[in-house]
Amino acid sequence: MKITVLTLFPEAFTWLKNYSMIQRALEIGALDLELVQIRDFAANKYKKVDDYSFGGGPGMVMAPQPLFDALDSLEDPGRVYYLSPQGKTLTQDKLFQLKSEEKIVLLNGHYEGIDQRVIDQKVDEEISIGDYVLSGGEIASLVIIDGISRLLDGVLTSSENYMDESHVGKFLENAQYTRPANFRGLEVPEVLLSGHHENIRKFRLHSKIKNTLEKRPDLLDESMMTQEERAIYNEIKKEIEKGGL
Ligand code: SAM
Repeated sequence: MKITVLTLFPEAFTWLKNYSMIQRALEIGALDLELVQIRDFAANKYKKVDDYSFGGGPGMVMAPQPLFDALDSLEDPGRVYYLSPQGKTLTQDKLFQLKSEEKIVLLNGHYEGIDQRVIDQKVDEEISIGDYVLSGGEIASLVIIDGISRLLDGVLTSSENYMDESHVGKFLENAQYTRPANFRGLEVPEVLLSGHHENIRKFRLHSKIKNTLEKRPDLLDESMMTQEERAIYNEIKKEIEKGGL
């Protein structure tokens, strides 16, 4: 997959080639990352890319000319995503959709944002990484590139499979433990040491449902649960009501 990043701060991305799953994705050729400096396309002598907001108001706006020219310079770029606090909030489902695209462009704003005509004419979709305002799109792009990289074929090993993770299935992931089995007197649940696959499966399912109920009840949809899941869910709810969990 190819991701082209349009930015005023390409240096914000340079460490990526040594970072975790992005490094792996780049190394195996699953990801091709192109950084485009928007300023290189400014047609004026001073390479100025911003200007005052028509109608007044604080801050500067990224001017249309460098952005139109930078985008026009890309041959067959794929869909153009503008990182924006006004976009739909990024989800794991959205990352799955993005990773299935052959190429995408991530357009990063700065200052007060970009001229509306760029959004109207050149942007296919706006994506936000949350209901708060950052100073630029770069950190949001980093989030997207990292989220996509680990989903690309061959990046995660089968033991690191993403299918069991939070926000992929119906529930958040179960609690996890590693060695030692006893750390400062804190014991790992015995069932996990038993080697009994069915009991471990049941323990994990219980842990997933409990985690979700306690941390993100808004994600639960009883109508989507299997009989077994619903039974565990009702049992945990009763325990919580009794103050037992
Ligand atoms: N004035 C804009 C507004 O109120 O909608 C905010 C501009 S913000 C200071 C500058 C740039 O940061 C934006 O153009 C956008 O690219 C990026 N940005 C800020 N918050 C973001 C968020 N939550 N998600 C994605 N990008 C964001």
